[in-house]
Amino acid sequence: MEATICFIGAGNMAQSLIGGLISSGYDKNKIIATDPNQEQRDLVTQKFAIQCLADNDQAIGQSSIVVLAVKPQILQQVCAEIENIVNQQNPLLLSVAAGIRSADIARWLGGDKAIVRTMPNTPSLIQSGATGMFANDSVSLEQKSQAEHIMRAAGLTIWVDEEPQLDAVTALSGSGPAYYFLFMEAMEKAGAELGLDAKTAHLLTLQTALGAAKMALESHQDCQTLRRNVTSPNGTTEKAIQSFQSNNLESIVKTAMQAAQSRAKELA
Ligand code: NAD
Repeated sequence: MEATICFIGAGNMAQSLIGGLISSGYDKNKIIATDPNQEQRDLVTQKFAIQCLADNDQAIGQSSIVVLAVKPQILQQVCAEIENIVNQQNPLLLSVAAGIRSADIARWLGGDKAIVRTMPNTPSLIQSGATGMFANDSVSLEQKSQAEHIMRAAGLTIWVDEEPQLDAVTALSGSGPAYYFLFMEAMEKAGAELGLDAKTAHLLTLQTALGAAKMALESHQDCQTLRRNVTSPNGTTEKAIQSFQSNNLESIVKTAMQAAQSRAKELA
């Protein structure tokens, strides 16, 4: 039988997960959301035909999995509000809050708890996300698979063994969509400067990014081999690749990701 899941906070991330779960066939009667904002509750009730309550305790009291989907800045306060009911009910807690360590959530809830901390990214909002996941020692194997099922509703899931690895996940997939946006922005601008109209440059950039990602996902070959396969000696692509390499693209990317990782460590 499917577990009852309650989403504390019915905003963007919760709605994306709820939408994904429902389209994967999860029983709507087993999904509850909460939000203090009446408009948000009406929207979620209308959109998904699930229960959306104002009262966190009432929702948690019916659930064996609680997804903490509020903004990181208010998570401590929300934990204080729900501490009693969480201690009575002892659910699996699944946090999507960026940068909040599982030990802090456990402490805010009064001690040892089964917690899965996740680091999703923005494309999760269109079910194309990449989520890093960490389970603390109190999480059972069954709870791990339940947590994975929920996050798969938003895209790819990957477990890490050590919680600090989530800082590397943040630097890669968490912040990564913005790196690709930046690169695409640069390609669009360069395309326009090479003589294309802006719309054409935009569409070609997007489709090229999509096509390259799809090819890499569907291929058994690694990125380096795929790149070499499309780089004929002395051809056009080779000239561009040589230019990137002589400007140290690899080291630029590494330095940028190290900066993101350090900032993730500082913020947690
Ligand atoms: P959001 O603002 O859309 O949703 C948060 C919701 O929580 C709001 O509807 C708000 O009314 C509600 N809320 C406030 N106080 C509450 C309380 N006491 N009890 C219950 N609900 C309450 O935010 P979001 O973008 O969905 O982000 C939610 C979490 O997801 C954050 O912790 C964020 O770090 C994480 N996350 C989001 C993204 C993303 O792309 N949006 C990516 C990675 C991680």
